[in-house]
Amino acid sequence: MEVPFWNKEIETLDRARLRGIQTERLKQIISWALKTPLYNKRLNQAGIHSENDIKDIEDLTRLAFTTKDDLRKNFPRGLLAVDMKDIIRVHSSSGTTGIPTVIYFTGDDIENWTDLLARSIVATGATSEDIFQNMMTYGLFTGGLGLHYGAERVGMMVIPIGGGNTKRQIQVMKDFQTTTLHITPSYMLHIHSKLEQEGVSLSDLSLRKGFLGAEPHSENTRLKIEELLNIHAYNSYGLSELNGPGVAFECVYRKDMHVWEDGYIVEIIDPVTGELKEEGEQGEVVLTNLIRRGTPILRYRTRDLAFLHPEGCECGRTHRRLSRILGRTDDMLIINGVNVFPSQIEEKIMKIPEVATNYQIYVDKKGQLDRLTVRVEIYPKLFLGDVSNLEALRVKIKEELKSSIVINPVVELHEPGSLPVSEGKAKRVLDERPKD
Ligand code: AMP
Ligand code: ZN
Repeated sequence: MEVPFWNKEIETLDRARLRGIQTERLKQIISWALKTPLYNKRLNQAGIHSENDIKDIEDLTRLAFTTKDDLRKNFPRGLLAVDMKDIIRVHSSSGTTGIPTVIYFTGDDIENWTDLLARSIVATGATSEDIFQNMMTYGLFTGGLGLHYGAERVGMMVIPIGGGNTKRQIQVMKDFQTTTLHITPSYMLHIHSKLEQEGVSLSDLSLRKGFLGAEPHSENTRLKIEELLNIHAYNSYGLSELNGPGVAFECVYRKDMHVWEDGYIVEIIDPVTGELKEEGEQGEVVLTNLIRRGTPILRYRTRDLAFLHPEGCECGRTHRRLSRILGRTDDMLIINGVNVFPSQIEEKIMKIPEVATNYQIYVDKKGQLDRLTVRVEIYPKLFLGDVSNLEALRVKIKEELKSSIVINPVVELHEPGSLPVSEGKAKRVLDERPKD
């Protein structure tokens, strides 16, 4: 397979030199972070009074973790490390609860971030000949603008359509013969379910690639998307606190995501004890941004669960690969004492051929006990057949789920289009148990 590079030298740098670059950049970031009250206090407590106290990236492990709560407490300007006049952009997280988090970018910060995105895009094999339909929300959310700038830098033709309006999305895909999409996996599946209704078939389109990000999805969902749309799908990971997309991206081999380690330091920790995990062991992803001055963020607890691959990649890049996000420390459901991750449910149901493109996880109480209901949409033709076939399918799904999550869920079969749809990040889990 041909392996394209944006910056081959950096992307294939030997690990010792990469570590040298990380150390240099970390020193720089620490000197900026010391200008903010929060990090000034925390770094001093860790015995780091100036960048000269950093000899190696390992010195960073003396510092306490940064949490979302730290960012919220410092809203809106507490973590700003430069003069406001040097800031050219602000982004804010999509946080659904309470105070948002805010990140400021200088011109150089945007430049560095854009470069990582161009690198990510080129790693997938996309080129300036591609027509790029950016279906992520534009605005304070980083997904839209981030990839927009990266794609322009690569020289793609960008269609800045943003999220939503399915009918128009499909029309635009056809009119401009879009080759590459940037989209959430749930919206991708929804778009597919509407093609027929819009009188459009895959042969009317020129789709080749999809960059899928912003929400957890299983390998089986990726396979389903690749099969239904006849495209290659590339996992794209990032979060606004660390710039947004472009933290980690899949290369042409599509075997998990290279973390751009000249831009980020990645650690995997035990979410309970905070201890560092070995390569290959699953834990919470902790990230330090090495390329942003406006709002320095060190050792940020992402709450995302994943592991680092110990071995390299066939493409020759030396930047380590992060597994897909296997869940979040905070999306774990505890059902009658058993821990259940929505990702376990998704992985199972997306493998079942009769299951269509949407599902929902519903939790409530029946008497004293928790009750887990999995609602799945199935293909319409199945509703036309024998009722006993439907019942057999329902039992099959239930058994499949039980084998993975241990508890016995209620399974409901729904017609396509009957469950709520999202055009951005999907909200798959509805927990209606009383809160106390
Ligand atoms: P935001 O800060 O609004 O961009 O949200 C970032 C969060 O979205 C991350 O911490 C992840 O939980 C989730 N996310 C982003 N990209 C992915 C991905 N490729 N796979 C799974 N989850 C993702
Ligand atoms: Zn690779």
